[in-house]
Amino acid sequence: MPSLKERDREVNWHPYTQMKTADDIIPIVKGKGVYLFDDTGKKYIDAVSSWWVTLHGHANPYIARKISEQLNTLEQVIFAGFTHEPATRLSEKLLQLLPDNQGKVFYSDNGSTAVEVALKMSIQYINNQGEKKTKILAFKNAYHGDTFGAMAVSGRGTWTQPFSEMLFEVVFIDTPTSENWESIQSQITNIADEVVCFIFEPLIQGAAGMLMYEAENLVRLMKLCRKSGILMIQDEVFTGFGRTGEFFAAGHLSEKPDIMCFSKGLTGGTLPMGITTCTNGIYNAFLSDDQSKTLFHGHSFTANPLSCTAALASMDLLLKPETQKNIRRITEQHSQFSQRLKEHESFENIRQTGTIIAWEIKTVYETSYFNAIGKVFYKEFLERGILIRPLGNTMYLVPPYCITAEELEFVYKNIIEVAEKLTATPIVHVYI
Ligand SMILES: *Cc1c(COP(=O)(O)O)cnc(C)c1O
Repeated sequence: MPSLKERDREVNWHPYTQMKTADDIIPIVKGKGVYLFDDTGKKYIDAVSSWWVTLHGHANPYIARKISEQLNTLEQVIFAGFTHEPATRLSEKLLQLLPDNQGKVFYSDNGSTAVEVALKMSIQYINNQGEKKTKILAFKNAYHGDTFGAMAVSGRGTWTQPFSEMLFEVVFIDTPTSENWESIQSQITNIADEVVCFIFEPLIQGAAGMLMYEAENLVRLMKLCRKSGILMIQDEVFTGFGRTGEFFAAGHLSEKPDIMCFSKGLTGGTLPMGITTCTNGIYNAFLSDDQSKTLFHGHSFTANPLSCTAALASMDLLLKPETQKNIRRITEQHSQFSQRLKEHESFENIRQTGTIIAWEIKTVYETSYFNAIGKVFYKEFLERGILIRPLGNTMYLVPPYCITAEELEFVYKNIIEVAEKLTATPIVHVYI
């Protein structure tokens, strides 16, 4: 009998993986709380919430029960011409928690599609008003997903290179600091009349390497967009649902966006779903007797009742005082751990926003995303039963909120130990 690993090799093509040189794959047979279990019974603490999605731990029994009840009631129905309780209740609930200018909810399947919908809404909004604008603004190093529109508004690099000729033009600006503000301001003011929208990840550029920037500077930029008539798309696919310490990153910002995108933690990490919300002002611009003003966009599984139910269940858990307390505790523990990292010679650029903490592994050698010490750390952590997946040389923790103080301390302790072990030997030689 071939093993699961061998069968996988024969048939599966994994994401973001060079299959020729990929390391041994780990077959996971079960999840429980913060742990993943492989086929030998070994367990791993999921310190990255399985690509930033798992909020309340794996196989959460409350979410599982709610999905199961819904599965036996209504599993799916076309969302054109029909509606159902889970979608309507989820929209009602979400709108109560979002900035009060958000008025309508549009469903799709993942973070990338939530971004596609946001871009199409913005562009057609301008079109429906009979205006002509063609420029889109985004941050350098942004990551908004892997579909074509989402790739176009993302930072260009190795990942997007084969498609570069096919991606629409975007004006990329630096993330704002107090130093570069004047130059960003004049850059935007010069083209403001032609700009449809500005899309941004609030406070943290996740996939770029957990690059963080100040709320105050973002608010200043948002105010400029507001004044200049530039629509704002706030991509909270990663930052939403408690990650930054607030329910949404919007909780840190005094200026409100026109459009917002959600996915990842939306269903607590159980089922795929994307959401794009917008103001009633945007929605109203699509209301017309002229059919061509309709938003002609939809997916087969739009507002799938199971995903909506999972999202409602996840929000029930998220709103519990106990979960809110855990989020505050993780934030506090991270902040104390930051101090320990700062005192250590192996780490640099230590930064934190809420439950997200990141730093770089210090090295004197020239490295890149593809030739990074992070990979050596990754393997060493797996051996120690911890899943941490560095982005190049950037290491970060994004744990599920159910992680206990002891489990988190176990992760911290190993981070220090691994650094001491690996920096005691010439690590780059180990790797290359
Ligand atoms: C992950 C991510 C996306 C894309 O979401 P997918 O579900 O992977 O398509 C979009 N925006 C941000 C900020 C993300 O972190």
